[in-house]
Amino acid sequence: MSTPTLDFEPGDVPLPQGHFIGGSFVPGGETHIDVRRPSDGVPLGYVPDACADTVDRAVSDALSAWKASGWGTRPPRERARVLARWADLIDAHAVSLAQLETVSSTRPVAEAYASDVPFTADAIRFFAELADKLGGDLAATRQDSLGFISSEPYGVVGAITPWNFPLSMCSWKCGPALAAGNAVVLKPSEMTPFSTLRLAELAIEAGMPPGVFNVVNGRGATTGAALTRHPDIAKVSFTGSTRTGVAIMTEAAQHGVKPVTLELGGKSPQLVFEHVTNLEHTAHCIARGFTSNGGQACVAGSRLIVHKRVAGPLLDALQRLLAPIAPGPVWRSSTRYSPLISRMQAERVESLIAASVADGAEVIYGGGFFEGTGDGYFHRPTLLANVTGRTPAVREEVFGPVLTVQTFEDEDEGIALAAHPTYGLAAGVHTSDIGQALRAMRRIAAGTVWINRYGRSGDLIIPTGGFRQSGIGKDLGREALLASMRHKSVLIDFEAL
Ligand code: NDP
Repeated sequence: MSTPTLDFEPGDVPLPQGHFIGGSFVPGGETHIDVRRPSDGVPLGYVPDACADTVDRAVSDALSAWKASGWGTRPPRERARVLARWADLIDAHAVSLAQLETVSSTRPVAEAYASDVPFTADAIRFFAELADKLGGDLAATRQDSLGFISSEPYGVVGAITPWNFPLSMCSWKCGPALAAGNAVVLKPSEMTPFSTLRLAELAIEAGMPPGVFNVVNGRGATTGAALTRHPDIAKVSFTGSTRTGVAIMTEAAQHGVKPVTLELGGKSPQLVFEHVTNLEHTAHCIARGFTSNGGQACVAGSRLIVHKRVAGPLLDALQRLLAPIAPGPVWRSSTRYSPLISRMQAERVESLIAASVADGAEVIYGGGFFEGTGDGYFHRPTLLANVTGRTPAVREEVFGPVLTVQTFEDEDEGIALAAHPTYGLAAGVHTSDIGQALRAMRRIAAGTVWINRYGRSGDLIIPTGGFRQSGIGKDLGREALLASMRHKSVLIDFEAL
């Protein structure tokens, strides 16, 4: 099949307006938030900023719809059919969804079309397929009794998603929650809500009962917090910064001791040992790992830890790969490189680089912004050497295309440098020695370890989530479906029957 024309004019894309509550768009009567195009900083439109009353209405509607529709008590296969139709509709609207994803975000339209949209459809399809595949063991009880686990949906789940991959994050949160039989009220980032609103509309077309999937727009500190606190939100699933994750966990504890799934920040190492089979391939993994989406990915491989003997050739190969990178508006299909999401994010990246340089770090490649992109913040891929564990860019998540470089001389030293005092989201290990790879895998505290690759595959059965301050619980995989249900222990005595 040939690739359709993906280039578009951002001003020509009709933007879904309002909140999506009870199966239709609801205008926001409250204040509005301006949305800008990250590629050039031009205002694009606005979204309503939901107050606590609007959140209350969305959650109450969701609870009523959940009860009235019997979404949670239907045979799982029926829910699976709706979700599978939803996934098919997402595929069928791939071009317009890619454009809506791109219009206010950092996602280049070609990548949104080739990856984000099909990945979103596949994630929903994956959880549809899993919906009726769960079964438990009978417990090893006394002979005159029967013990087992009965799993049931929570009710209404609150989901809060970030701006870096709006469609995928929506599917990671909603796929398992809806397949498990919950209703969902989702707050997308106010910077990138449009593709999520369109997904909600397509869910209705797929046959989802109105009110089972709802989207409220607004700021995190108000709308997001009101959602977390709402007494009828039984569980919260969030992806974003560790700071906000802590706030959500605190709110969830104080307002109902609610379970949370938190996918938070990272400072993931790319550990390159002395012997790798293909140095070009390794360099490619490193380059993609920290420049993809302008470095704005939770699993960005932002710390290169490389054996002294290969450091020179690897850095040469890396710089050859970085040299052709050029900025461009994300609505051009030729664009591969992403801008930073906002001025605030640009300032954060620059201030972390400046603080690192003040601490002794040296910019050995890149630095600063590409010129001629108006108010679009296209940061140059940047390599920082002479860094230590104290350097701000080593300690903190930068969320920009910045890679710190540290060298080592033996396996223990490399693994020790790969460890991070705070984060444990992902790690890349590159070596042709499988024993060395497995030793490193065992010793690195990270929720995901990629060996001789960097980044997720389409294998959605593999869950993702962080250790320590990188989060709690898992997205994707069987684990995400199980975490969308509460599990009741049942014990029956035969004697009394
Ligand atoms: P946040 O974690 O603050 O935002 C993520 C989502 O949470 C947004 O929808 C946000 O809404 C919402 N939110 C914010 N505060 C609250 C709250 N108190 N209660 C409920 N929801 C809330 O990330 P930022 O956009 O502020 O980015 C800052 C940094 O976070 C980045 O530099 C990066 O380091 C990290 N980050 C990590 C991500 C990841 O994938 N792990 C994704 C995004 C950011 P709103 O946008 O309105 O504030």
